[in-house]
Amino acid sequence: MADLKVDLTAPNGKKITLPTGLFINNEFVKGNGGTITSINPTDESEIATVQAASADDIDTAVKAARKALNEPSWRDLPPTDRGIIMYKFAELLEANKETLATLETWDNGKPYSVSLNEDLAEVVGTIRYYAGWADKLHGQTIPTTPGMKFAYTLKQPIGVCGQIIPWNYPLAMAAWKLGPALACGNTVVLKPAEQTPLSILFAAQFIAEAGFPPGVINIVNGYGKEAGHALASHLDIDKVAFTGSTTTGKQIMKTASINMKNITLETGGKSPLLVFDDADLDQATKWAHIGIMSNQGQICTATSRILVQDTILDKFLEQFKEVIKSTSKVGDPFAEDTFQGPQVTKQQYERVLSYIEAGKSEGATLATGGVPNKNVGDGKGFFIEPTVFTNVTEQMKVYQEEVFGPFCVVTTFKDEAEAIRMANNTTYGLGSAVFTTNLDRAHRVAERIEAGMVWINSSQDSDFRVPFGGVKQSGIGRELGEAGLAAYSQTKAVHVNLGLKL
Ligand code: NAD
Repeated sequence: MADLKVDLTAPNGKKITLPTGLFINNEFVKGNGGTITSINPTDESEIATVQAASADDIDTAVKAARKALNEPSWRDLPPTDRGIIMYKFAELLEANKETLATLETWDNGKPYSVSLNEDLAEVVGTIRYYAGWADKLHGQTIPTTPGMKFAYTLKQPIGVCGQIIPWNYPLAMAAWKLGPALACGNTVVLKPAEQTPLSILFAAQFIAEAGFPPGVINIVNGYGKEAGHALASHLDIDKVAFTGSTTTGKQIMKTASINMKNITLETGGKSPLLVFDDADLDQATKWAHIGIMSNQGQICTATSRILVQDTILDKFLEQFKEVIKSTSKVGDPFAEDTFQGPQVTKQQYERVLSYIEAGKSEGATLATGGVPNKNVGDGKGFFIEPTVFTNVTEQMKVYQEEVFGPFCVVTTFKDEAEAIRMANNTTYGLGSAVFTTNLDRAHRVAERIEAGMVWINSSQDSDFRVPFGGVKQSGIGRELGEAGLAAYSQTKAVHVNLGLKL
């Protein structure tokens, strides 16, 4: 439909023609679930209004994906050809990375330098990485009764995958999910978060151009309760992959049980960062800052609980506050020197403020920050100063609950055993960081921490070649790396009788 696009001029002057429809069967179409208006979190202005999917639209998208899976079959295309199409998609995204990064920053609020140099590099790298896997997936032959019987296994796609993604890394989360699903021969219906619908719509234009047959990738913006629920409950969806809050993850798990869908969940975290008294404090404080203040603190793996050996607390705090002061420039995400932009929405902004109030009323000490930043955006926009609470106890809400903002708590431990006990005192288990110069201790602690990922003398390393995921209430399954393929393929065993006669 000709009218399903809008001409925009971004705050950095970029002129963009943005499709606004649902992308089904390689076409942009009108939705029946109302519209979504995207808000610029920097100044609270409206950016664009896009189509939202109803349950019926989800059904149309699922039918398209089912048809594409089976006739003519995406799964039966020579795997090398699947990889070539994926490579081409990655190339088109790379060629348009400035526009994609502009849209990402505009509706998400993350610094443009991060969108362009980190997120888009990751998006392109992830699609390329999985394109390379497309023709390297195979089963095994298993000798059983020599001369009479053997078995072999086939690696097969799971089928039609529903993918539900969050707003904190819109394009990267799409790439993490599309890459392995497509490499394994699945087809996809992907629902972006309603807070950040724009960049993926621009990216969707390149799906047909790259050569994906109609229906292989369908992008349906929509609201969680309607479109998201319709996807998780659809009887012709074989798998649901979700990233977002633990509460919604649990709901999706229940919903997906309707036909026992395969599920992958990547949910919340309250990741610990341990600093032992033998650590390089200069490095520990800088990484601690990256660990919680980057991406406005809106990272599921953010190291939001900082546990410091009691003998070095004062020194740590003094240096940590200095790093925050000198590095955490809060402001316009399109400005080159900005480290921290606004929170993604008013709702997230208010959520962080409510935790600041909770910290104060629980009796923790506000070491720095703790107020909305009114010095930027003419008093408009969802900016919050980087916030650190000390004198925090393990029972406090601010120690236990995920805040998802530039907000961390610092507390102390006496020795290694207490550090491990305190680190594991959480319902979550996503990331964790250990700062020490003692090699034995580093590996001992890494082994004992209940988390899907451990960073030794670092924080927030993530690489498309390395598995990513959580334990406990941080999720089920792994994304990225070779492990990410397991989430999108199933193993069929074929038993062959060569000569055993009855
Ligand atoms: P959310 O979990 O509600 O939303 C994530 C995605 O799930 C969105 O696409 C949303 O539309 C969809 N969704 C919502 N309800 C659904 C349902 N019933 N069925 C199917 N899909 C549904 O997260 P939120 O409300 O945007 O953020 C709330 C909190 O979640 C944040 O403060 C943060 O703590 C956490 N969060 C975590 C991550 C992460 O990367 N793990 C990302 C975003 C938010």
